[in-house]
Amino acid sequence: MTNSTDKVDIAVIGAGLGGAAATALLAGAGFSVHTFEQAAAFTRLGAGIHIGPNVMKIFRHIGLEKRLEEIGSHPDFWFSRDGRTGDYLSRIPLGDYGRKEYGASYITIHRGDMHAEQIAALPQDRLHFGHRLTAIEEREKDVLLTFDNGRQVAAGLVIGADGINSMIREILLGPEKPRFSGWVGHRALVNMDKLRSSGLEFEACVKWWWEASRHIMAYATKGNGSEYYYVTGVPVDGWEHETSFVDSSREEMEATFGGSHPVVQALIDATETVTKWPFWNRDPLNLWSRGRLVLLGDACHPMRPHMAQGACMAIEDAAILTRCLKETGTDGYKDAFTLYEATRRERATKVQTISNANTWLKEPEDPAWVYAYDPLTAILG
Ligand code: FAD
Repeated sequence: MTNSTDKVDIAVIGAGLGGAAATALLAGAGFSVHTFEQAAAFTRLGAGIHIGPNVMKIFRHIGLEKRLEEIGSHPDFWFSRDGRTGDYLSRIPLGDYGRKEYGASYITIHRGDMHAEQIAALPQDRLHFGHRLTAIEEREKDVLLTFDNGRQVAAGLVIGADGINSMIREILLGPEKPRFSGWVGHRALVNMDKLRSSGLEFEACVKWWWEASRHIMAYATKGNGSEYYYVTGVPVDGWEHETSFVDSSREEMEATFGGSHPVVQALIDATETVTKWPFWNRDPLNLWSRGRLVLLGDACHPMRPHMAQGACMAIEDAAILTRCLKETGTDGYKDAFTLYEATRRERATKVQTISNANTWLKEPEDPAWVYAYDPLTAILG
């Protein structure tokens, strides 16, 4: 694109995990797609993330599976353990079992490492950083997008992959702030040398549980074992801060989880820098698209992170939306959007509901309905 009056068939707003996946899949399917991201440039944001076999199949299709497998950690189990006694509440097999039963690897990885691979794999001339969408005009044959840098683009279709505070969602459903879920998460990358010096074993993927569903999810984010991460879930009375996160401290971790199992204590002792994040939420939306606008990912179904499937649902959305548009072509977008919502609504809402309830894999259960799902071959509709 060379000037401010360009036309594109499909505009994706947001190059986060879902938007980047949508861009790769739509470009791969032969669509003229351009992606507009408010950030000035790519930044390695976030910390740990799990990617289930349901989504590794999509990365296989995009050509990123092997690279992500090389970088990420491959836990053999998701363990759930009692935070005080260390007793095992469940042992959910992943690793080789997962590859055989679910058709791809289960990995845990640094979110920024994965996002970097996603962004690098895109056709760079389709990716426009420094473009914050500020206005939309829905016209008869297209949508006029205005960005904060003054640029205007006419798009045939607009995919809102613009996250929990989505402007596209606001256009469809009106302004409404996400709701504070009543939960916060402490997040820390832990000093490996300190962890090792404890002489204890740190499992590759383990969730420690206390009363009232308080927990610490701890896991490796690199296959070479050089990075270990935890995120907690703790109910609180409210969130008064204006910022997206605040600093926490080892002392706060000690006050919240101290006196627990020795492995948990070692995690706390090895904590140097820890931040505290509010978890935001919305009820399931009653509208996923209108006219030429359609939503995916957190713009559409944000959730508390306790099932480790929020980004996975965004990327599944991208795969199904691409398949629907392939069926109908861009001219048939109304049918495509109807088919997309019909295919996605039940599954995404179920994951959102279970994630918010924070019950996933606490006790032995069969996760096949999540992990064995193949978004590339699942029946549409
Ligand atoms: P985002 O990744 O938020 O991307 C939205 C993008 O849109 C951003 O880049 C933003 O800059 C851009 N944007 C916004 N507004 C505009 C605008 N007006 N113009 C242009 N660009 C705009 N998920 C998992 O699958 N597994 C996990 O293990 C996991 N762990 C998590 C742990 C925590 C603590 C949290 C908070 C979340 C976790 N998630 C996990 C959820 C996951 O991070 C989100 O579901 C996922 O990032 C959503 O992707 P998205 O593309 O919809 O939105």
